Amino acid sequence: MRLRVRVTGLVQGVGFRPFVYRLAVGLGLSGYVRNDTVGVLIEVEGHKERLDEFLIRLESDHPPVSRIYSLQHSFLEDKGLSGFEIRDSDESGEIHANILPDISTCDDCLREMYDPSDRRHRYPFINCTNCGPRFTIIERLPYDRKNTSMRLFRMCPECEKEYHRPDDRRFHAQPNACHMCGPHVALYDIKGLLMAEGDTAIERAVDKLRNGAIVALKGIGGFHLMCDATDDDVVNRLRQRKCREEKPMAVMFPGIEMIRAETHLNRLEERAICSIERPIVIVRKREDTTLSALVSPNNSTVGVFMPYTPLHHMIIHEMGRPLVATSANRTDDPIVKDDEDAFRRLNGIADFILTHNRPIVRRCDDSVVKVMAERQVPVRRSRGFVPLPVIIPFRLKEPVLALGAYMNTTIALGIEDRVYLSQHIGDLDTPLAMEFYGETIKEMLEIFDVRPAIVVCDLHPNYYSTRYGERHFSKGLIKVQHHFSHILSCMIENEIPEGEEVIGFAFDGTGYGTDRSIWGGEVMIVSYRGFKRLYHLRPYRLPGGEKAIREPFRTALSLLYETFGDKAPEDPLPPIGKEETSFLIHMIKKGINSPVTTSMGRLFDGVSSIIGLRHRASYHAQAAIELEQLSTKAETEDVYPFVINHNSIDWRPIIQAIVMERRSGIEAEVIAKKFHNTIMEIVLNIAETLKDGTGIRVVALSGGVFQNTILTEGLYHRLKERGFIPLIHQLVPPNDGGISLGQIVAGHFHNIYNNL
Ligand code: ZN
Ligand code: ZN
Ligand code: FE
Repeated sequence: MRLRVRVTGLVQGVGFRPFVYRLAVGLGLSGYVRNDTVGVLIEVEGHKERLDEFLIRLESDHPPVSRIYSLQHSFLEDKGLSGFEIRDSDESGEIHANILPDISTCDDCLREMYDPSDRRHRYPFINCTNCGPRFTIIERLPYDRKNTSMRLFRMCPECEKEYHRPDDRRFHAQPNACHMCGPHVALYDIKGLLMAEGDTAIERAVDKLRNGAIVALKGIGGFHLMCDATDDDVVNRLRQRKCREEKPMAVMFPGIEMIRAETHLNRLEERAICSIERPIVIVRKREDTTLSALVSPNNSTVGVFMPYTPLHHMIIHEMGRPLVATSANRTDDPIVKDDEDAFRRLNGIADFILTHNRPIVRRCDDSVVKVMAERQVPVRRSRGFVPLPVIIPFRLKEPVLALGAYMNTTIALGIEDRVYLSQHIGDLDTPLAMEFYGETIKEMLEIFDVRPAIVVCDLHPNYYSTRYGERHFSKGLIKVQHHFSHILSCMIENEIPEGEEVIGFAFDGTGYGTDRSIWGGEVMIVSYRGFKRLYHLRPYRLPGGEKAIREPFRTALSLLYETFGDKAPEDPLPPIGKEETSFLIHMIKKGINSPVTTSMGRLFDGVSSIIGLRHRASYHAQAAIELEQLSTKAETEDVYPFVINHNSIDWRPIIQAIVMERRSGIEAEVIAKKFHNTIMEIVLNIAETLKDGTGIRVVALSGGVFQNTILTEGLYHRLKERGFIPLIHQLVPPNDGGISLGQIVAGHFHNIYNNL
């Protein structure tokens, strides 16, 4: 395998490359290291475990004078590099003054913060050149204090001295501050009554948390809602108030030992949790966890993370136990970032508000990752990663703007060989989300100071993003098919060269197809220049359309009707009245408000309902997630029969078999496992057929369904065993958060397939 790492930070001229050399050679790895326009680029090749070791030690053992601000990495196919060399710097491109992401508090600052003799003892905004807010405080470039929200604070003489002394750790640290001159915290009750300031505010907030209160805490990119994660009562109250029935909530821990005690971790998960980016990492709960079951109900996993700002550090350490730390918003709205907003929008949700007077210029949610197939796969790429560019293997002739899709939206701006993806914007459902979306586009164009020559949006005529594009960029607007964008995003981050074709499996919930139906279970041959749709799930109807997302029993009914017709069995029918059932069947038969789909995501939902697991979902993909987790309890390798008819994957034999098994009392977990096995078998079967016909061995897996660990890991290994080269996501999410990257690529090549 090959591991590619792009490091940004203080890594040039500080002995970093010799350190990398020694580390690589010591582990018997071949490859090279070189400085480039973004920082340091490393490529090493060897066995996977050695590469993991390299990655872990890169972060833990680097020379003390060097500093890592970010470490983007992917595991790729090896190129047969031999020996190890320190290569000359890449001087082909100009050096880019990248805007850095917000960087988690460094050890030096933490030491000072806990040192009673330090002048910044217990100062919750301590930072230095190597850590602190960046992206969320910048108003415009260049990155100088006067262009950040720190311009409101005038440095005291001591801070000023540090700022100007070249040998000081705070030399030109723009957010430099101390007790005397910097921002400070204050605790309010929800009515806006000031309760305490400074250290007392922190103490009292912790006291409130200990006593079962919900505290909104202003962090770096927005407010968190926090409460004791071991207290059922308060977690339940938070759910009720936030109108968040069962969607999992993330938990912040005081330290890695406590996370180890509550969850099962492998070493890559542990690395991710402790990494400089400090994302939320989705891991498996232990049976005997002390976390409230309500943190992630009916779910065997939980999102965990470590503190990344001094204020979070102080709160969580004083608390001494895990805290729920979930984005402060009402479901579907963007995260709250301003005080005024907090008092208004969090009224009725939080009991107290711990805020501070350093304004957040732009919101940025926590990032979420998951380790699958021994790789770190982003589920949400935001704080800690944004706005670092994804480097692409060719140069864009003109700037390209990508408007994303609809769910988990991000936008992207492509300039030369760099693609800047925005922070997580969310689902474009509510007026606030739409406003945030428009703001983000304007800001990105402003801050990078470009005018896009090409603008790309999704093919879906009703997406807010599409309509936004039509309204604001009628000239040069290109509409690109959703699943084509998914596969493109996967290809580009895996550095597939121009001209090469791959077999793409795009499995997700919904996306608008070129035939105007809803796609989502698609097999395509894809190159950067276009795609051919070769297979898809056998089409079926979704009675009530979008409603099927929240009510998987609708999909279940449709699958059963398609399979059995009017002889549909009474038994696995959903828990709704006979009348509603026959009404829905009538809708399906007549095609009334029942769009046709080939969605794989919905198929998972439907099966989940048919086996009696989940008929109504309170958050997106809940039915499918529970089906996946249930399947891990069974061992079987058996598969159900399926038929591939011309280009249609006929799932009816699968449904038929499932219904039979269910009636004969086979456990639901066995059915769930066999269903997963079957989907994998279908993929392998089609991949083999296409390989025989075309010689293509590279298989790209993209779309929201590939957040499913069983499927992604299973397919990754099986494809590999059979001589394929599987590609999965490691830089952008497989879900629609990664669509904008694919759209950039499509925009670049648009003149070629314009007339597809
Ligand atoms: Zn620091
Ligand atoms: Zn000061
Ligand atoms: Fe999608």
